[in-house]
Amino acid sequence: MIVVMRPDATEENIQTVIKTIEYCGLKVHLSQGSEVTIIGVIGDKSKLSKSNLELLEGVDKLVPVTESYKLSNKKFFAGPSIIKVGNCEIGGKEIVIMAGPCAVESREQLLASAHAVKKAGAQILRGGAYKPRTSPYSFQGLEEEGLKYMAEAREETGLAIVCEVTSTQAVETAAKYVDMMQIGARNMQNFQLLKEVGKTKIPVLLKRGLCATIDEWLNAAEYIMSEGNPNVVLCERGIRTFETSTRNTLDISAVPVIKAKSHLPIIVDPSHATGIRDFVEPLAKASIAAGADGLMIEVHPDPSKALSDGPQSLNPEAFMKLTKNLKPLIELMGRSFNNHE
Ligand code: PEP
Ligand code: MN
Repeated sequence: MIVVMRPDATEENIQTVIKTIEYCGLKVHLSQGSEVTIIGVIGDKSKLSKSNLELLEGVDKLVPVTESYKLSNKKFFAGPSIIKVGNCEIGGKEIVIMAGPCAVESREQLLASAHAVKKAGAQILRGGAYKPRTSPYSFQGLEEEGLKYMAEAREETGLAIVCEVTSTQAVETAAKYVDMMQIGARNMQNFQLLKEVGKTKIPVLLKRGLCATIDEWLNAAEYIMSEGNPNVVLCERGIRTFETSTRNTLDISAVPVIKAKSHLPIIVDPSHATGIRDFVEPLAKASIAAGADGLMIEVHPDPSKALSDGPQSLNPEAFMKLTKNLKPLIELMGRSFNNHE
């Protein structure tokens, strides 16, 4: 439920409402807009039954929030939320591109990737140090050594860095190095892991689960936010359907649907969505046109030698071409892409 205050409500009126809610054993989320103040109520609202909140001075109306996610809900906070990662902001005017290899394979491979994506206008370097592979026999990642190379690449290029975490132990280690932690599709409902990243204040990139509905995805964001970390960015990366022509099916409608339901930024990963490099550009364009706040693109210095996801990875030239082609569309959408050389 949310309590909508009247535009002329005083600070004292607001504090009285907050104290009344807290006295009933519930939590409060305050959102002070330029016009009205909204007080979100978190918890079992039946505890408020005798409080007569609607009769308190300054209260305009009580509006029920039927969705189980609250902190990520647009009804609680109209937003948009702008999430700061390193020196860049996701969810504002600027389109933010995260790019880099699927996995950190070696120091040389990573530094070459970092310089290439920086040159083409990416603001965040991606690279997996803990790889959630379908087969236990596939390359599993360099773990902490990979995180060290990522941190070195940040020093050299000034790019912020994002790495996936796959366990609570990885969260502890990655927290020493990264600007943003990624929760991969396979872990979107690993509630223990969500709570663990929620206990940090490090921004989280929450990928949509392979078979997750949008409401399940927003509930996963709620797990992170309810632990005290509001810095969540959503990433649509394709879902499982009956279609086999592409690795997954990009749910482009997730972008406007999320924008209607939540104040959190959303980016799109056309690399994992399609699994095929030739389809990355058209879907990157579609994502920007649909209103996405950014993109995640896999780039490898030599995709034919990649230890994972080579077929969907762009080489540095193709990535440069992609960002050049995206720039006019980004501007047409009223957004900006400032870093392009
Ligand atoms: C990744 O980004 O490297 C990855 C494994 O993606 P997803 O979790 O979306 O499959
Ligand atoms: Mn990958």
